Amino acid sequence: MIAIDGPSGAGKSTIAKLLAEALGIDYIDTGAMYRAVALCSLGSGSPPDWLDGIEIDFADGRTWLNGEDVTDRIRTPEVTKEASRVSAIPEVRAKLVGLQREMGRRKSVVMDGRDIGSNVFPDARYKFFLTATAEERARRRTKEMQEKGMEADYADVRKDIEKRDWDDSHRSVNPLVKTPDAIEIVTDGMDVSEVLASLLTKIK
Ligand code: C5P
Repeated sequence: MIAIDGPSGAGKSTIAKLLAEALGIDYIDTGAMYRAVALCSLGSGSPPDWLDGIEIDFADGRTWLNGEDVTDRIRTPEVTKEASRVSAIPEVRAKLVGLQREMGRRKSVVMDGRDIGSNVFPDARYKFFLTATAEERARRRTKEMQEKGMEADYADVRKDIEKRDWDDSHRSVNPLVKTPDAIEIVTDGMDVSEVLASLLTKIK
């Protein structure tokens, strides 16, 4: 089990995916699970009414919600905001943490999120805390959105990132924290290959 935690926009999912590929193991994106619950919430009303029956799966590099491919639909700004809201609901966390523990118990995986090393798998063999300054994360996110043809204003993106940082680290259930045994990597000024190499060096 390799746990990668950190704030929004630190590049966790890019790195986690590449790391899993390099090691030949599966990657589990727990943020996508909160996003899938958020998508349900926007369509079916706030959880926990339908939460018990929800099915989330990662197959063929896609995210599946109740048998439907929602990979792209969970990336809109609306879902992002709702994911942050539903992730503070204790029933939602209990349900998803249960699913994550089941997924990670069966096989060796790379799992990224906010509370993997602190709560989901406190005994993970490797724990990384990937971070970068809010300025750097906002710059990267703005560029990424503009490259996808989306409208993005740096000041707005930065405000969103800072709000999510605050919400993630101040919620009462499983907040974002760096555990004392996690290896912290501050990625300002590093490119993806440098960050990946740094993680691989620590693992090998
Ligand atoms: O990582 P990503 O931005 O996709 O996560 C979406 C939201 O899900 C985050 O804003 C965060 O509030 C929540 N989250 C969480 N715990 C995790 C992963 C994500 O609370 N393990």
